[in-house]
Amino acid sequence: MGGYGMKGFFGKLLRINLTTRSYIVEEIPEEILKTYLGGKGLGSYLLLENVRTGIDPLSEDNKLIFVAGPATGTGMWGSSRYGVYSKSPQTGLYGESYSGGKVAPLMRKTGYDAIILEGAADVPLSLEISDCKVEFRNANHLWGKDTFETEDRVLEEVGVPEAQAIVIGPAGENLVRFACIENNYWRSAGRTGMGAVMGSKKVKAIVFHGQAQAEVADPELLKDLIKSLTAKAKGNVGVKAYQTYGTTQMVKTMNCAETFPTKYWSKGIYENWKELSGDTLLAEHEVKPNACPTCFLACGKLTTVSKGIYSGLKVEGPEYETIYAFGGLCCIGDLAEILHLNDLCDRLGMDTITAGNLVAFTMEAVLRGKVEANLSYGDALGVADLLVDIAKVRGLGVILSQGIKPAAKVWDLEDIAIHVKGLEPSGYDPRVLKGMGLAYATSTRGACHLRATFYKAELSGMIDPAITQGKAEMFIDFENRLTLFNAQILCVFYRDMILWPELRQLVKALTGWDYTQPELEEIANRIVTLTKVFNLREGATREQDTLPKRMFREPLNEGRDVITVEELDFMLDEYYKLRGWDSQGRPPVILY
Ligand code: SF4
Repeated sequence: MGGYGMKGFFGKLLRINLTTRSYIVEEIPEEILKTYLGGKGLGSYLLLENVRTGIDPLSEDNKLIFVAGPATGTGMWGSSRYGVYSKSPQTGLYGESYSGGKVAPLMRKTGYDAIILEGAADVPLSLEISDCKVEFRNANHLWGKDTFETEDRVLEEVGVPEAQAIVIGPAGENLVRFACIENNYWRSAGRTGMGAVMGSKKVKAIVFHGQAQAEVADPELLKDLIKSLTAKAKGNVGVKAYQTYGTTQMVKTMNCAETFPTKYWSKGIYENWKELSGDTLLAEHEVKPNACPTCFLACGKLTTVSKGIYSGLKVEGPEYETIYAFGGLCCIGDLAEILHLNDLCDRLGMDTITAGNLVAFTMEAVLRGKVEANLSYGDALGVADLLVDIAKVRGLGVILSQGIKPAAKVWDLEDIAIHVKGLEPSGYDPRVLKGMGLAYATSTRGACHLRATFYKAELSGMIDPAITQGKAEMFIDFENRLTLFNAQILCVFYRDMILWPELRQLVKALTGWDYTQPELEEIANRIVTLTKVFNLREGATREQDTLPKRMFREPLNEGRDVITVEELDFMLDEYYKLRGWDSQGRPPVILY
């Protein structure tokens, strides 16, 4: 039962101090949950409230905040996800990341709406968090182990059959700025370096279990929604595509649209893309569905490599983003090689999007004579060696482990480096998909495709990718809806099934709060604004809401596709205005 008889929430926050190895439970006022709706709203609110301006993200002053949403563990489709929030060591700004797999329901069963880690331990620790207690265990023997072994051993040590764990690998321990948090071997809270923050606090793993259950306000209404979504999915072509290919379906789509970033963002089509496609994956390797609990889309594909030197290697993936980053950007036209690199990143605990971008950037640096290394486009073995060097912070990995901005500065290649606010984009080129340009530029966590998944609108004919008129308005509609997905927390791949009416129904069923669509839009605007305020407080300005210079200077696809500074400015002006911010992107105080 939630505090104050609240439905959908526990009304409780667990605050763990790692320095003193102590913890306290605090109440979360109902008003805060009504205002921010949990998940991303609650995580961002707590981040703003608890992290002082100007702190070093890898110091003990930073906080690491975990949140499972009000939808988690209720049986709602696509609800097996947790969010993690912190000041990002990769961008120095607002950091957030989400992961699927089996952890979120167990995180929720501990009985807290949010868990804050603060301070830092003096020796490596693993934590066991349940609805009864928090245990601090020495994890010296796990330090240096990869994520798979760590997960196995830490679960064995806790010995509770239903428990689930999140872990970091060597990259997180070594404070690689784009280290991620992993669970269930292959699921990652991948972006913005949350694994490095966990490493800086010397927390190697956290195990969750418990029996707590937040009361659902209207179980019948929730049941109706689940049933109607099940019916909607029957015979749906989009659902079938996810079930068959997962995100690998995007390899074909993006190459046909000439927006598959290739050879470090110099081309929009990869000539060997068919070798990387979903059809090739299914034809040449053994592929089985591996869905998160309560999911009928089942985008996760457990692949066993069927031939060659990696025969027998088992990986959940590769995701489209990993294929684009290692396949397209590094010109590696072999899925088995990409699966091997995927496996390495998972075990080391590194984000594949940033890793692929950094390696391709290094290939370009070598070509331009800025760096001496035996590495060229297509060299999969060279990539594997460099990934290990990055995780171990040795050789070229010393500078690359700091992220793209420091590496570009040291190598005098700032003009060619592709990133926004220090975070590399995913596999959608904004010279073709101009709305993705707006998405990358305005995203408070750096170039992000998931905040609105606006590529969907541009690729499916909802709006012409080449125009800028009216784009900000449609983009905000997408961003608002998906911000509320992250407030519940739902998988964004359900975006075509859960529209505004279904979202309203879900919030009402879970919490009893009968918000109108405009009221929900206002809450989403408030959440987006919170994340913006975090960045403004850190000194961010309109100048950072931009795209890499090459997007403006280098047309793509034989000169056909480019985005101009004026086009981005036009969309940016509209976006700020519709959000209620001033021309510099500054919100009035009343919005948050
Ligand atoms: S679509 Fe994929 S990521 Fe989303 S809930 Fe299902 S299996 Fe998990």
